[in-house]
Amino acid sequence: MTAYEYETHDYDVVVVGAGGAGLRATLGMAEQGLRTACVTKVFPTRSHTVAAQGGIAASLSNMGPDNWQWHMYDTVKGSDWLGDTDAMEYLAREAPKAVYELEHYGVPFSRTEEGKIYQRPFGGHTTEFGEGPAVQRTCAAADRTGHAILHTLYGQSLKNNAEFYIEYFAIDLIMSEDGVCQGVVCWKLDDGTMHVFNAKTVVLATGGYGRAYFSATSAHTCTGDGGGMVARAGLALQDMEFVQFHPTGIYGSGCLITEGARGEGGYLTNSEGERFMERYAPQYKDLAPRDYVSRSMTMEIREGRGVGADGDHIFLNLNHLPAEALAERLPGISESAAIFAGVDVTKEPIPVLPTVHYNMGGVPTNYWGEVLNPTAKDPNAVVPGLMAVGEAGCASVHGANRLGSNSLIDLVVFGRAAAIRAGDVVDADAPNPALNQASVDAAFDRFDGLRHAKGNVPTAELRLEMQKTMQADAAVFRTSETLTEGVEKMTGIAAKLGDLAVTDRSLIWNSDLMETLELTNLMPNALATIHGAEARQESRGAHAHEDFPERDDKKWRVHTISRVEGNKVDLSYRPVVVDPLTTPAEGGIELKKIAPKARTF
Ligand SMILES: Cc1cc2nc3c(=O)[nH]c(=O)nc-3n(C[C@H](O)[C@H](O)[C@H](O)COP(=O)(O)OP(=O)(O)OC[C@H]3O[C@@H](n4cnc5c(N)ncnc54)[C@H](O)[C@@H]3O)c2cc1C
Repeated sequence: MTAYEYETHDYDVVVVGAGGAGLRATLGMAEQGLRTACVTKVFPTRSHTVAAQGGIAASLSNMGPDNWQWHMYDTVKGSDWLGDTDAMEYLAREAPKAVYELEHYGVPFSRTEEGKIYQRPFGGHTTEFGEGPAVQRTCAAADRTGHAILHTLYGQSLKNNAEFYIEYFAIDLIMSEDGVCQGVVCWKLDDGTMHVFNAKTVVLATGGYGRAYFSATSAHTCTGDGGGMVARAGLALQDMEFVQFHPTGIYGSGCLITEGARGEGGYLTNSEGERFMERYAPQYKDLAPRDYVSRSMTMEIREGRGVGADGDHIFLNLNHLPAEALAERLPGISESAAIFAGVDVTKEPIPVLPTVHYNMGGVPTNYWGEVLNPTAKDPNAVVPGLMAVGEAGCASVHGANRLGSNSLIDLVVFGRAAAIRAGDVVDADAPNPALNQASVDAAFDRFDGLRHAKGNVPTAELRLEMQKTMQADAAVFRTSETLTEGVEKMTGIAAKLGDLAVTDRSLIWNSDLMETLELTNLMPNALATIHGAEARQESRGAHAHEDFPERDDKKWRVHTISRVEGNKVDLSYRPVVVDPLTTPAEGGIELKKIAPKARTF
């Protein structure tokens, strides 16, 4: 028995996370009358989704011709043929519906002259199956789209009687002996009480793990807690080697300048004042996908054409755009550039650098958000009682590389899908089954062990060591040498988790302990990332391997499955789903339209 006293809460569904994905799932569950709790370590509207600027992709055709098939094609190509085709079809098909729902819930989208939702161009979004010009597909609320969506979904969730447990930190999943997820153990940060949530379904919506790296655009709360909990439960992570670098993090701070800035006409230049993207991507130039632009920028810097005293960054130019357009369409980034780079965007270029931005990998799911058990005999087997949505999950619609504005739509489409599925599989009338006490106790024991950790390495020190190693050895350019060395270093770093020193033993607002719990979550995510990268001997999407510059579909069009135990990682592979949801006779896309080909722009 554990020494901790705790309160038990019974629900049909517990959603862990109140970002866009968690709130959309929470709202959908509550709307159907399921007893739903949403547990979150920060206040809902402080989740990282609030920082999303550019917008949300859906083929509404408000600015010109568009359709879901073109959106699907772009997503397939963007993923560098690693996404699951059924999930990508579901995303592109359901996107317009999901956006209109947001509109009706009250999201204050920017408008066209006729009063329709305003849409802007974004990298990789095109027409005519990549043959036509760029399309305006990204729906925007100025450059504060995530902010608008998050506030609206929170209000709607409250209206539908979802119950919020705010500043509760989820420590670990509760798993039955036969592998059913039964709930989650939480620590209430502000008063030190402990809570056990018993649920028929747990939805992980804990966001990404950008903070495994030194320079990231994501919030300090993006510590991959869902992935950590999943790894400790002996379950799998998928495609973790695919980490997206955003081309335009402000040099130094990492603060994001949205791709919408290039969508509105901004362009990049090197030390010779050259618009170099015209050379790398003659057709789409500065609006080629992110991995492509990040790699091009890195090449310019490596070849000695970087800007600044150390020649180690690139300029983003907006000063040729009318000041009124900047004020109307990009007010937030004008402010960020002034604060974080001391630059007046109407007069000077912004110094920028590719910065960690998004994790394509995560907890593997089907397109209903149900967590897969990829090493079971049946390839479609799911983990009963467990779902994952948003950046924490991997459905997988982004494959090896995510298109800009395809994450916000992923959050709402799959948050919604999880709710639809839960409506079918959760029996609201059934009593909650008894919890596996051994699993509950194990969570408290782990917590207690960390709380009293008396080793030699402070949490902040070990975290920094991990972040610097990941930044140096698993960044935009990767070689066999850096990756092998990185794996070795990370194995040693992860072993030091057993030698952590926590100095504060209290239970109330103990940020030392909370950051320690977060570090134990970052670590398995980081390990899976670098091991997966080391093993993948090809270049695909965000994984650019200098010693294997070609994509190898014969051998590597497979998902990487990793199981992390302590500082060891066990890798296996699972086939990519190549069949769409519907056939051409049913209105679906022709397979030959989305067959793999070279990814050029
Ligand atoms: C600066 C920036 C700009 C972006 N702009 C765009 C854009 O314009 N368009 C686009 O499509 N995408 C954009 N993205 C990507 C997109 O915003 C994110 O992928 C997305 O918001 C992630 O949402 P989420 O709901 O999965 O997680 P988050 O919004 O990160 O929320 C995670 C939630 O989980 C909770 N949580 C985590 N761990 C625990 C725990 N242990 N216990 C309890 N609760 C926990 C947190 O409290 C939080 O509520 C941007 C990302 C960044 C960083």
